[in-house]
Amino acid sequence: MKKTSADVLPGLSEGGAPGDHPLLAVDNLHVEFQTRAGVVRAVNGVSYTVGPGETLAVLGESGSGKSVTAQAIMGILDMPPAVIPKGEIRFKGTNLLKLSEEARTQVRGQRIAMIFQDALSALNPVFTVGWQISEMFRVHRGMSKADGLKKAIELMDRVRIPAARQRVHDYPHQFSGGMRQRIMIAMSIALDPEVLIADEPTTALDVTVQAQIMELLAELQRESRMGLILITHDLGVVADVADKIAVMYAGRIVENAPVHDIYKGPAHPYTKGLLESIPRVDLKGHELYAIKGLPPNLLDLPTGCAFHPRCPYRQDNCVTDAPPLHEVSGTRNSACHYWREVLDGEHQ
Ligand code: SF4
Repeated sequence: MKKTSADVLPGLSEGGAPGDHPLLAVDNLHVEFQTRAGVVRAVNGVSYTVGPGETLAVLGESGSGKSVTAQAIMGILDMPPAVIPKGEIRFKGTNLLKLSEEARTQVRGQRIAMIFQDALSALNPVFTVGWQISEMFRVHRGMSKADGLKKAIELMDRVRIPAARQRVHDYPHQFSGGMRQRIMIAMSIALDPEVLIADEPTTALDVTVQAQIMELLAELQRESRMGLILITHDLGVVADVADKIAVMYAGRIVENAPVHDIYKGPAHPYTKGLLESIPRVDLKGHELYAIKGLPPNLLDLPTGCAFHPRCPYRQDNCVTDAPPLHEVSGTRNSACHYWREVLDGEHQ
């Protein structure tokens, strides 16, 4: 939906002419947590952009920094213990990290919204779903209860909850996991956000429902031209919906590329490992591949390339020299000294 001048939030310009700025740009973001055991460097110089109608999949194991980056974008990190020592998060050219808390609160949910992975704990069990969805309109748009409820029914229809008019008065526990996730999606799109962040939106769901939720997100995005950031640990769910992928490891982006390039041939051993870990029906009976070892301790990152203890391509210099993000092509980068060999499929 086109924003009117009345929608321009305090402290946030509309960012000049279209095309001047990416819709959302994360630029050299660092996030640390001060803990008793030391400083946890959760995000170490992450940069990515997402445009209108574009889907960026951010991929990685737990602890890779993908969700912390999303929480920094939303402004929902507990600070302290979290600290953002460096970097910018620009929405239409405005650095969100410099906004007042009041302006930030208005961006959150209205311009940039988020779907969390656990719909059951995100929904309040003591209020009907209609009340919870309509709250968005009552609080942010000053609507009456009756008008808010009408909008809630419209949204439940839009996310294809059957018999929305009757079910608007039901409580969260009366819905299946997939339907609860649809309710969360309805709440997140209620105020027509321009960027939607979906953090593992299908993790708790079975495979068929996962596919339906991904299809729904793709459809809503096509209708509204939202920028979508899809956070997942599962390369299998992003193939059909993402335009580009950023793979994260130990708080850094280790590879970014258009989705088709990644599936054609990864340029980083970690991406290659993730691709090989996807179960394949044509390889029934074969042992499932798993990347050996465990994700690193963020309090004590390995020297050189953080992936070196697990990497089948490792050479001596990997242990001492951290690889920069090499340009593989105009739209692709890899943080691996040996990206050419990985891309050529040459095993070290
Ligand atoms: Fe593996 Fe070395 Fe590349 Fe790191 S830099 S991913 S250890 S080959």
